[in-house]
Amino acid sequence: MTCAPSNACVLRLRRVPPRAEMKLAARKTATAIRHRREQLMSEHLRADPLRKLFPGIEQLRIELLFHDPETHLPPPSPQLRTLYSAAPAFFRFACPCTDCDGNFDLTDAVTTLITNSEGRRRSASFAGQLSCHGVRFRDQAAYRRSCSMQLSFQLRAEPRRTE
Ligand SMILES: [Zn+2]
Repeated sequence: MTCAPSNACVLRLRRVPPRAEMKLAARKTATAIRHRREQLMSEHLRADPLRKLFPGIEQLRIELLFHDPETHLPPPSPQLRTLYSAAPAFFRFACPCTDCDGNFDLTDAVTTLITNSEGRRRSASFAGQLSCHGVRFRDQAAYRRSCSMQLSFQLRAEPRRTE
């Protein structure tokens, strides 16, 4: 038998979780986010050096600009990373929102740039945009929503001088 639209049924559907349950859920989410960030960091440290993956590249410059169209708060600080040949070839960056579990994956963009510029003597650039697919939560309110953070990135690869 299906649930008849009685008052009892509506009440059960709208039942708000008790405070303790909400707090526990928020704490679990915070732990999950911390865990994901630690995982990202350890993958970063274990990645092969740039020179092994892309031996023809001397230096890779990654510029990250963030923008959240759903807030009027000042955007997170831009980030500029310069990777030399000994640096880990790891191109996933955590979302700058501290309560978000998402990250921006530039692996495809970097691979495309370097593959296309292979054998060239001049530096090559590539720019693009990505949206965060993470979920954000607010500790106090204990509610989740998808993250609206946008990333504009610019990549520049400098070839190794062969002289
Ligand atoms: Zn995010």
